[in-house]
Amino acid sequence: MAEVINHVCNRCSASIEAWSDGNPYYLDENGTKEYAYHPDHEQLEKCIGNDSPHLCLGCGAEFMVDYEAPSDQCPKCHSQEIADTFELDGRKCPFCKAGTFVRDSDFFVVS
Ligand SMILES: [Zn+2]
Ligand SMILES: [Zn+2]
Repeated sequence: MAEVINHVCNRCSASIEAWSDGNPYYLDENGTKEYAYHPDHEQLEKCIGNDSPHLCLGCGAEFMVDYEAPSDQCPKCHSQEIADTFELDGRKCPFCKAGTFVRDSDFFVVS
């Protein structure tokens, strides 16, 4: 079971969705990384790692942090102010630079 939550900025309309279980991936026969999508359980069983989506609090870029080679900075602007998209509650919004993300409690999806 996976859960999706949504964080919205209290000043602008920015919203970021996050899966509770990140982005599981496996390697295909050529060694290329492939993401397994819900609800493909056959693919999920082959997964060897799990990338977690992060948001740069400096420039607003969304990017994956690899489970095998974790990075602590934004690949675009190299800011170290990054946050797991599942843990944005109370973090400042990089889009309007004025608001704060709050968890949208009306938004709850279970897959
Ligand atoms: Zn905002
Ligand atoms: Zn950035």
